[in-house]
Amino acid sequence: MESFKKLGLSQEVLEVLTELRFEKPTEIQEKAIPLAIAGKDIIGGSATGSGKTLVFTSPIIEKIKSNGNVQALIMTPTRELAEQVSNSIGKFSRNKNLRTIAVYGGVSIGNQIRQIRNADIVVGTPGRLLDHLERNTINLDNIKFLVLDEVDRMFDMGFHRDVEKIIFRCPKDRQTMLFSATISGDIDHLAKKHTRNAIEVAVESYVDSTKLKQIYYDTPNNLKFSLLVHLLNKEKSNLVMVFCNTRRNVDFVEKNLKKNKIDALAIHGGLTQNRRSRIMKEFHGNKVHVLVCTDVAARGLDIQDVSHIYNYDLPSSSDDYVHRIGRTARAGKEGIAISLLSDRDYNNFSTISRNESLKIERVNLPKIERVHIETNYSSPRGSRQGRFDNRGRPSQNRPSRDNPRRDKSQNSRDGFKGSRGSRQSSGTNTRRPARNRNFNRPRR
Ligand code: AMP
Repeated sequence: MESFKKLGLSQEVLEVLTELRFEKPTEIQEKAIPLAIAGKDIIGGSATGSGKTLVFTSPIIEKIKSNGNVQALIMTPTRELAEQVSNSIGKFSRNKNLRTIAVYGGVSIGNQIRQIRNADIVVGTPGRLLDHLERNTINLDNIKFLVLDEVDRMFDMGFHRDVEKIIFRCPKDRQTMLFSATISGDIDHLAKKHTRNAIEVAVESYVDSTKLKQIYYDTPNNLKFSLLVHLLNKEKSNLVMVFCNTRRNVDFVEKNLKKNKIDALAIHGGLTQNRRSRIMKEFHGNKVHVLVCTDVAARGLDIQDVSHIYNYDLPSSSDDYVHRIGRTARAGKEGIAISLLSDRDYNNFSTISRNESLKIERVNLPKIERVHIETNYSSPRGSRQGRFDNRGRPSQNRPSRDNPRRDKSQNSRDGFKGSRGSRQSSGTNTRRPARNRNFNRPRR
């Protein structure tokens, strides 16, 4: 606890950290908590799992007193992250009698309106916060702390303008702290525009290469799903996350894992908030150990003890790849990231491989049995109406919040095969323009 004390935290907070069994500060905590408590604006380069919540919470809980005004505003890209941050603040401020509320869309606004009236700290997603501002149900005139969490994700999800609109509604005299796993030109511009003499704090990549093994299999498209089943059955694992690029593939993989007697849960942005919350409870309760998800849905989820990451689809950027694999090999534990490459992943894999710090080894395809694949099922329970057509497929022309950048180009490639009950599909349409065939095939 001495090491936390040195950072300038009060006795009340130190007591909570002892209860939570935090033994020593993480890198970002060590570097940034003293600056945050000193009132500095901060631009933090760190991602989910780095311990950044305690960084931005520290000055807030050390300095504000409950007075029924919203004094701190934290913007997060997703509802799950808003819930998670709000719960963490609740824990860290247990001895301080502060009221924190999370506000996000997909649930009734009435309760939030009542709770905001007494809240000292509000954690929210940009869309719902704007809703409250338009209805005059939140007053930001007393904001002393503004936190922008996971800004890269907020930008990816198209919240850039919403975020700025909200910033402009906050008083200029405030402490601003901004966190992002990657700092692009856009983010740098936003940060410089809305912070004052901000100090940049970066931490080493949170992927520990001594604990994390990264491998890939080069598989024909029609064996991809069978390979996943084979590996899930063969590899000894704790919790497993299987990443897909689209909602459609998430549903495809989940349904077919279940058909092959592997209990799996799916989480993506097409599900209602209630369903997403129920799924996360089940997963945390360790009832099911395989979670199939899109990047955006997984963003910010605090899931401990993930031993295996599967990339059923390769993401299109090395940033997304690093985010995915950073879910495992945490806190000194070992982990493995397994990428399943078929034709349509080669372009993405080439992009990812340009990041020289990523060492991904090729492993020969094992002998695998072809498993049964079902491609015709109805819209999953809890999916929002209108997102799926009457054959259970997501509607084609709608950009998805899970993947706004990619959906346009991937909808056709990721379509289910037309035939019912095909035994060969990998959840994707294998027909592609000839000019793309074997393009950028990874070197052996
Ligand atoms: P965060 O990146 O703030 O979401 O934190 C990720 C996870 O690490 C959460 O479960 C925290 O409770 C936990 N955590 C944060 N800081 C520490 C620490 N210094 N020691 C142990 N666990 C921590």
